[in-house]
Amino acid sequence: MALSFVGNVVITVIVLGVISGTSATFSLKNKDNTDDHEDEQAKQFPRSEPEADSSYEVGVGIADMTGPCVEITFMGYAELGQSGEGIHLRQFSRAFIFSKGNTRVVLVTAEVQAVGIAVRRQVVKNLQERYGDMYSLRNVIITGTHTHSTPGGYLVDFILDVSILGFSKETFNAYVDGITRSIVRAHENMVPARLVFAQTKVKNAHKNRSRYSYNNNPAEERARYETNTDDLLTQVRIEKADGSLHGVMNWFSVHTTSMNMTNKLVSSDNLGYAALRMEKELNPSNLPGKPDIVAGFFSSSLGDVSPNTRGARCEFSNEECDHQFLLCAAQERCFSKGPGEDMFESTRIIGTKVFEGAMEALRSPGEELRGDLAVVHQFVEMSQEVVPKYDPIKKTFNTNEPVRGCFPALGYSFASGTIDGANTLNITQGTLQGNPLLDIVGGIVARPTADDVECHAPKPILLATGRANFPIPWHPHIISLSLIWLGDLAIVGVPGEPTTMSGRRMKAVVGDVMQRRGFKPRVVISGLTNEYIHYVTTYEEYQVQRYEAASTIYGPNTLDIMLNKFSEFTVAAIEKGDVPPGREPADNRAHTLSLILPVIADNPPVRRRFGDVIAQPPAVVPRGTTVTATFVGANPRNDLKQEESHAVVQRLELGRWIDVANDADWDTRFYWKRLSTIAGTSEVRFSWRVPETAQSAPHRVEYRGAARSLFGRITHFTAQTDSFSIQ
Ligand SMILES: [Zn+2]
Repeated sequence: MALSFVGNVVITVIVLGVISGTSATFSLKNKDNTDDHEDEQAKQFPRSEPEADSSYEVGVGIADMTGPCVEITFMGYAELGQSGEGIHLRQFSRAFIFSKGNTRVVLVTAEVQAVGIAVRRQVVKNLQERYGDMYSLRNVIITGTHTHSTPGGYLVDFILDVSILGFSKETFNAYVDGITRSIVRAHENMVPARLVFAQTKVKNAHKNRSRYSYNNNPAEERARYETNTDDLLTQVRIEKADGSLHGVMNWFSVHTTSMNMTNKLVSSDNLGYAALRMEKELNPSNLPGKPDIVAGFFSSSLGDVSPNTRGARCEFSNEECDHQFLLCAAQERCFSKGPGEDMFESTRIIGTKVFEGAMEALRSPGEELRGDLAVVHQFVEMSQEVVPKYDPIKKTFNTNEPVRGCFPALGYSFASGTIDGANTLNITQGTLQGNPLLDIVGGIVARPTADDVECHAPKPILLATGRANFPIPWHPHIISLSLIWLGDLAIVGVPGEPTTMSGRRMKAVVGDVMQRRGFKPRVVISGLTNEYIHYVTTYEEYQVQRYEAASTIYGPNTLDIMLNKFSEFTVAAIEKGDVPPGREPADNRAHTLSLILPVIADNPPVRRRFGDVIAQPPAVVPRGTTVTATFVGANPRNDLKQEESHAVVQRLELGRWIDVANDADWDTRFYWKRLSTIAGTSEVRFSWRVPETAQSAPHRVEYRGAARSLFGRITHFTAQTDSFSIQ
């Protein structure tokens, strides 16, 4: 059948390739509560002097958006075998709403690989049903943190869902529900607030994984910067009128790929850890995901930036490798490793550095943002754009040298992956000549036209995705570009992953416009915004065609088109003008395909019931060790338990069992294992590393399951282990 054949071919290509490469409210000052603790905190964090009239109304909200944690392939590494087997960290959506005068804007950071137009469109539709036309695609800006350890199948563009085996309605609905709920919560707690801008450098938390490409940028341009990564953490803190903290937004450039492609537990990775850590610090008594003060972490110029600071090594020989000049032996994979002993440790180390940077910024006096609020948004059809070329040395647009965008296409080095994802075929990065095998595979899918070949040169086209429309377009043709003017801070919304120098050029262009009009050049790049378009490299980086360049899908001038647009958007924001809205992309959700199987039925094994404890924890558990319990299980896809938990650790307190650690906690891991597909039997394991702070009172593990009958009826059940004591 044509369909499955095309499907298999595409899946083969993707397998060959790799797509990646808390309620004690902490207060700064609280009028109603002046106990010692509050005073201590007020001393610790400086606050700007409150004024009688705060100029903005700001709302913050967090919601659980965890998708189906088992059986669905993760989005990011495009490893077909990397489907979920449980949860390490839950996925959260954090929303911030700003309003001033007649302008309102929503900014969301969602713990997923990226967010596309399909999810955003449904979120906006949900908001419009509640609040009318207050919210639209124009002012609801949604970003992804780029974690590679969360379920996929929700982006709709064919090639972005193909490694997941197509569209996953479960994932899509989970993300839409969670993101919507976070915005509704933010909408409902809007209060007068002040905004404070701060920046700090975070050292040793990342490294450039494509130095060879970076070094192809002009020497004069490189000489302007001390480092080949952007190590600046940018923060906006939101203070209520009484000076207490309402929320914090942070931007930092790092790939959320501390968890590697062997991981099968849902995880928000290093930025997720940083967010949980900061929320715990600001809301010490709250459980993970239930803070009052919300701390959002946004991705930034992360395209060529890896958290795996030990660099790339051959799998067995441990020799240095780079996919280009230093190759490993045949059958030996080259991938990079983090600073830790294992990927969990690496996630914690990188996340801690980012968290510490954010706390340092929070303690700094900062500068108050007092200006206007504006949002400029446009849908741009990339292949139709002709713009003046940008000169990075003179920092000017050359109107005598028009350049154009291309129909989307991926180059050969896309299939070779990056050091953040294993290169299973050892295709070298920088491949400029076609590989016959890939020629056949790529050629079947869609032939590039002569114009595509010329437009993308020197990229050898592996997949002419812009020419493939079956069953739906494979890649976005029309993309969403945005710029938020947040009180004289420009937040540049880039769909996809800008490299370090791409981000720097965007900052330079937007900053120049600001400076010429008398503003301080405060610019922050927000990556993975509103759409997923793979990478954005500079023209010079594009010429050497490493992974990031091969994945710059609109050709060598992708960045220059964006630079022209962001320059225009900045002028519009400052002059209170606007830009034409552009043509909204078609909604293809009704025409998606899926090979993802639903849950058929759950059954306990013979003479067992759901929740029966198969392995009890020991009677006494020392602090610092890990305790594990195993139950007769049911498929967690039957109930995603958003805002709840598949399992918890409880402590006996005054005769009542209270939850002390849920499945979103860093110290817990929830595993689900299918025993028999035919019988529908499965097992659940929940482990908890007992913290040094754990009390000696009796503890137990509770499993909260949901089983499905053959006729689709869902039955909820709970089960507890025997109690154990801690010493
Ligand atoms: Zn990436």
